Amino acid sequence: MSERTEIASLGEFGLIDHLTKNIEIRNASTITGVGDDAAVIDHFGKQTVLTNDLLVEGVHFDLMYTPLKHLGYKTVVVNLSDIYAMNAIPSQIIVGIAFSNRFSLEALEDFYEGVYAACALYDVDLVGGDTTSSQKGFIISCTAIGEITPDKYVKRSGAKKGDLLCVSGDLGAAFLGLTLLEREKNIFRENPGIQPDLEGEDYIVGRILKPEARKDIIELLSEKVVLPSAMIDISDGLSSEILHICKQSDVGCVLYEEKIPIAEETKQAAFKFNLDPTACALSGGEDYELLFTIHQDDYEKLKENKDISVIGYITDAEAGKHIISKGGNRHPLTAQGWNAFD
Ligand code: ADP
Ligand code: MG
Repeated sequence: MSERTEIASLGEFGLIDHLTKNIEIRNASTITGVGDDAAVIDHFGKQTVLTNDLLVEGVHFDLMYTPLKHLGYKTVVVNLSDIYAMNAIPSQIIVGIAFSNRFSLEALEDFYEGVYAACALYDVDLVGGDTTSSQKGFIISCTAIGEITPDKYVKRSGAKKGDLLCVSGDLGAAFLGLTLLEREKNIFRENPGIQPDLEGEDYIVGRILKPEARKDIIELLSEKVVLPSAMIDISDGLSSEILHICKQSDVGCVLYEEKIPIAEETKQAAFKFNLDPTACALSGGEDYELLFTIHQDDYEKLKENKDISVIGYITDAEAGKHIISKGGNRHPLTAQGWNAFD
């Protein structure tokens, strides 16, 4: 049996102190971190980018198959992904938690182990938070703060006719990982004697439980001196994110099904579940890749990079929003993705 320390034995301040005592400050911009009424941050003339996410047990995550350490890591990563999607560099986070008495000190330690692992990898400081109780379950609020050289931030609204539509990494894997975990959960519920079978599915399961934010892509764009005209991170599925860019930029687009990057592991898993891999990429969520548009002149600078795929181009709004299937047919692009046509 693993140990179980009741939170009540520490009290709120003892708990905060316990969870934050080993914080190492990594950024010069962090002037005051945990321990005062508020944190103090100096961005030295840069502009500040802010985002928040709220995660609720049973709505956004299921602790039956989500280890708390992974949850802590993912909490940070999904927020940092939003900062990167503005072309900014994250520097601080604030994490608030509410939990019922079902949670022990050891459980919260696991969660913070994940939070701190992400802080170390992405070079951000945890500078504050809030700690309270909930009647039921675990609730997490995470705010990320980032910095950007004035006016170098990239909004969703800057895409222009003729720009190329680009995406990082590959898509659809997280959705299939989730589908697999949900299936195993249901099998386990009906027959607790059966152990989950995740054999050979590390890639798709890893993509849902331990996603990464594309810091490397933001660094690459900066190194190659490419400023995207619009950018968004893919949390809800490719089609809905493309539609956000089109709507906010007042443009249309053409997307090529055959250009959508999908990993071999994802295709195999899709076939096992009798799902169309393209539909998983278009409508499945939580990939946390970056979708961005670039001017055609910038194509040369990025074309050697295997982590970036050009998947289509931007048109006038009047031309509409379309996907060209592998069979060469043209279909309207909708947020729901698609019904396997052709
Ligand atoms: P206040 O009552 O003024 O809001 P708190 O007792 O909630 O103060 O917080 C004291 C300090 O501890 C603050 O710096 C706050 O940001 C930090 N803090 C509280 N909860 C957490 C947490 N879960 N993680 C990190 N820092 C926290
Ligand atoms: Mg407080």
